[in-house]
Amino acid sequence: MQKLTNRSVQVNRDPMTMMERAYLPALAKGLVITLAHIFKKPATISYPEKKRPFSPVFRGLHILNRDENGAERCTACGLCALACPAEAITMEAAERKPGEEQLYREEKYAAKYEINMLRCIFCGYCEEACPKDAVYLTETVMPSNYTRESFIYKKEDLLIPDPKTPNIK
Ligand code: SF4
Ligand code: SF4
Repeated sequence: MQKLTNRSVQVNRDPMTMMERAYLPALAKGLVITLAHIFKKPATISYPEKKRPFSPVFRGLHILNRDENGAERCTACGLCALACPAEAITMEAAERKPGEEQLYREEKYAAKYEINMLRCIFCGYCEEACPKDAVYLTETVMPSNYTRESFIYKKEDLLIPDPKTPNIK
C-alpha cells in the first residue's frame, strides 16, 4: 500500500529484555528528571503569604470616593453607567435635603449604587467618565465567592469609610 506520509514509525514488537522487564532504566530516568527539578527555581509562589507585584496598569475592585470633608462625591449623574460597556452599573438618584450638606457634596446623590462584578471587565471606563472623581478602581483583587448575589457590590460595599468616623461606612 502506498504511504500517505513518510512520518510513520515502525513499532518495535521485539520481546522485552531482562532489564526492560525490571523497568530499572525507566525508573532511573524518571528519578534523574525529578532530581533535576528539585534544584530548579520553582515557577510557583506560596500565595497568599507571597504576592507577585502587579502591573502598574492593573485595575481591581472599585471604590466610591469622598471629598476632603468626608461628603460623598457621587452625584448620580449616570455617566459611569453610560460609559460602561458591560452595563454593570445601576443607580438611583435622590435629592439632598437641608442639613445633609455634610453627607453629600452636591444637591443630588446616589441613594442606590450597584456594580455587578460578574459583568464587570475592569476596563476602567467608569473611572475615566466620572466628572466628580467619585469612582476609582483600586489594586485590590476581586475576592472569589460562592453566590451570585455576593458579586453585586452595593454602595455600602463600595463607599470608602468616612475619615471623620472611620468605623462607620
Ligand atoms: S470597569 Fe468597565 S466594565 Fe467595570 S464597571 Fe467600570 S466601566 Fe463597567
Ligand atoms: S460615580 Fe461619577 S460618573 Fe458615576 S454617577 Fe457618580 S458622579 Fe456620575
